[in-house]
Amino acid sequence: MTARLIDGNALARSIRDEITSRVQGLRASGVQPALAVILVGDDPASQVYVRHKVADCESVGMRSILERQPTSLSEAALLARIHALNTDPGVHGILVQLPLPAHIDAGKVIAALSPAKDVDGFHVQSAGALMLGQPGFRPCTPYGCMRMLQSVGVDPRGRHAVVVGRSNIVGKPMAMMLLQAHATVTVCHSATADLGAFTRTADILVAAVGRRNTITAAMVKPGAAVIDVGMNRDDAGKLCGDVDFAGVREVAGWITPVPGGVGPMTRAMLLANTLDAAQAAQARSAG
Ligand code: NAP
Repeated sequence: MTARLIDGNALARSIRDEITSRVQGLRASGVQPALAVILVGDDPASQVYVRHKVADCESVGMRSILERQPTSLSEAALLARIHALNTDPGVHGILVQLPLPAHIDAGKVIAALSPAKDVDGFHVQSAGALMLGQPGFRPCTPYGCMRMLQSVGVDPRGRHAVVVGRSNIVGKPMAMMLLQAHATVTVCHSATADLGAFTRTADILVAAVGRRNTITAAMVKPGAAVIDVGMNRDDAGKLCGDVDFAGVREVAGWITPVPGGVGPMTRAMLLANTLDAAQAAQARSAG
């Protein structure tokens, strides 16, 4: 079997098109959705991510406010900036690019965000809402993975989903979303004994580890839907995921490529969350 591709670029494009027309509607009623992005320091990868986020906002007609701060910025000064943005009615979403310099406590910074503007979905209130099945912002990467499954008609209900990785931003929220969609969910991590024994029983397999070739063809159930979140470099310096794509595509039913899979969907879901934040703010001010 050769797996069918879940094309993250194409799906993200169609989501962005839909967002563009919803943004036009909001702007016609006097509200331009706005995302504030705070970048502290000069980490090269973070600079690229932030540039993409700003360009994405502009491409759908949203406003972006990019705040570049020096590495020497104090924690207190960053918290003060967040408080100011929390109360600024012209700002609907706030994103603090991680990682932060070592002298700043990222947990404290995320806790300072207004949950109403937490478009990354990292605040404890957003995490709690997901856990309880209540409305709230969903972390963009797992949210994008769910949309990818939905787009090709893979319904998690009654299926065994295996998530490899248990980070707070990908693995854990991914597991909660699959559970909410009625999958039976197993979460694997670095202390899992015999990873393959679990992955081979997965109808839906999500790899979010950060190590290439973690998932090989022998670890995949024939016909499974395989979502590759990983972002790694191969020996030639080319971007690759956690999944041995060439081998696994011969076994799986569906597979996401890297690049062109989860990455563009993560970016699209940030726009979706920002739009939702702006619409919710408009509804609050109207009511
Ligand atoms: P992370 O915080 O480093 O978490 C990695 C997880 O993998 C941990 O839970 C770890 O287990 C687990 N793990 C490590 N080695 C393992 C092994 N041999 N077997 C099973 N599990 C193992 O990373 P993350 O932030 O979740 O990101 C994961 C990957 O996704 C990275 O490559 C990252 O760059 C990528 N990513 C991509 C996007 C995107 O938009 N495409 C977005 C976010 C992240 P322990 O908990 O036991 O340490």
